[in-house]
Amino acid sequence: MKIAIIGSGLSGLACADHLVAARHEVCLFDKARGPGGRMSTRRMDTAAGQVSFDHGAQYFTARDPAFQTVVKQWQESGAAALWTAAGPEAWVGMPTMNTPIKALAARHDVAWSVRIDGLVKQANGWQLQSEGHIIEALFDTVILAIPAEQAASLLEPWESEFQALAEDTVSAPCWTLMLAFADPIKTGKATFRDDRVIGWAARNSDKPGRTGPDSWVIQASPDWSIEHLEDRQEQVVTALSGGFADLLGFSLHDPLVASAHRWRYARSGKTSHSALYNSDMKIGVCGDWLIGPRVECAWLSGTALAKMVLA
Ligand code: FAD
Repeated sequence: MKIAIIGSGLSGLACADHLVAARHEVCLFDKARGPGGRMSTRRMDTAAGQVSFDHGAQYFTARDPAFQTVVKQWQESGAAALWTAAGPEAWVGMPTMNTPIKALAARHDVAWSVRIDGLVKQANGWQLQSEGHIIEALFDTVILAIPAEQAASLLEPWESEFQALAEDTVSAPCWTLMLAFADPIKTGKATFRDDRVIGWAARNSDKPGRTGPDSWVIQASPDWSIEHLEDRQEQVVTALSGGFADLLGFSLHDPLVASAHRWRYARSGKTSHSALYNSDMKIGVCGDWLIGPRVECAWLSGTALAKMVLA
């Protein structure tokens, strides 16, 4: 089969791995410029050298035996390591969170910077539409490996049950502040958890393999993110910097970098399915949102969908 996968985050790539291993031809499409999805890393140049921020997923766990095997392989190849400051089972990509995604994507045919905005069912397969133009290739099967809200609009004309499920599975947003300092912040703690303005704050430069200036990723709580969803970036930088200073108990000195990123669909909901596949229509759906808002769930969902397609 020739299979199109829309979304080249962990779920789409896990699905692709299994389908390619079964000798199917897989083409992935992703609207982003490079690999990561919600396991992305942002790099910035500063007067004190380059700094990187894992501004999406902070760390991940591996409890399923099959995913544990995959993470062990990442560890052996140097693409992942334990970050015990976040807990005894907390894994991170090495030297950046997106390293495992980069390695997976390198094994596949991925078209970057291609946003798919429509699916077209032909008598003998599927075609994809991007920015109003139909892409010439014809696919036997199409797979959506994107957040629920984005999947819902592509599913709408073709699979009303899947579309309804995607619409009912609502994600929570997350405003994220990235700060870097020439002089490290004076605290012995690498992570903070709270539930008021700041949900989580972590010294990114404390993670294994990171180099460069003292860097911090500070996530607003879900309630604060919802309430301030449409605020301007500058307002969010000021508010979250203040919230972080309150958490530390002292004021912050001037940062090298202070930048905010809004994840509109950060933390997914969950359903009672691991993946969705309509074998008559040859359309499938995977992603963290089927199982839960975690990296491991994305891998499990992509793997579950591949098994359904192969069955
Ligand atoms: P994604 O990684 O979102 O991949 C979807 C891909 O589809 C993206 O690359 C996107 O560019 C692409 N795409 C979307 N629409 C289109 C389109 N129309 N056309 C083409 N391409 C498209 N998980 C944990 O386990 N631990 C954590 O600590 C944690 N913290 C998090 C903090 C934040 C701020 C965020 C945002 C997420 C966090 N997560 C965490 C969740 C974790 O990152 C996700 O569960 C996981 O990365 C989801 O993978 P996915 O493949 O399902 O989706």
